Amino acid sequence: MLAIIYTHWHIDHSSGAKILKQQFGDDIPIIAHERTLSRLKRWGDPEVLLPTKTIDDDGVILRYGDMNIELNYIGYGHTNTMLVPRFPKQKLVFAVDFANNDAVGWRDLPGWYLGELIAMQGRLNKLDFDIVAFGHGMPGDKDTIRRQIKYYTDLTTQAKRALQQGLSEDEAVKVIEKNLSQYKQWRFYDKWFLMNIRGAYRWAKENNT
Ligand SMILES: [Zn+2]
Repeated sequence: MLAIIYTHWHIDHSSGAKILKQQFGDDIPIIAHERTLSRLKRWGDPEVLLPTKTIDDDGVILRYGDMNIELNYIGYGHTNTMLVPRFPKQKLVFAVDFANNDAVGWRDLPGWYLGELIAMQGRLNKLDFDIVAFGHGMPGDKDTIRRQIKYYTDLTTQAKRALQQGLSEDEAVKVIEKNLSQYKQWRFYDKWFLMNIRGAYRWAKENNT
């Protein structure tokens, strides 16, 4: 029994089903959150196949013989279309794009709801698992997720503080780069860390209530 699961609508995670179907059969279901279906319909790329079975926020348990796959919806930290597949027997969970293994976030975190992202990573760690696989990079465990929570908490706390002190975005980048130098060894630090600061600063400005 085969199934294709789209974790969320982003094209780098919803392309390729055509090739899998050519290889393994046209009757394989494509399972996704219901908002992934509506988002992909609007996107309208004929190369990206639409889901054939949709799940709502309540999630579902798929049963394949003696193997269960739980599909959980645990928040909108990285689009509101994210399914978190968990294999209870293998104690394995998939956290695609809303967490990573000792890596900073993508560019200036476009469309990342940082407060919700941290809450979502916390909800992830309440699930029962030993191994977490990511959409990009090597797998990790609950400590990996704890380090991600610490990173995004540090980043947003610093951004809010900079805003309270009346710093401009450029000034905030300089100060926060110095204050968070402990993340220098993380992947993509050189490429995206300063952009992460800008994203967090703008997020803090928009959510400054
Ligand atoms: Zn994504």
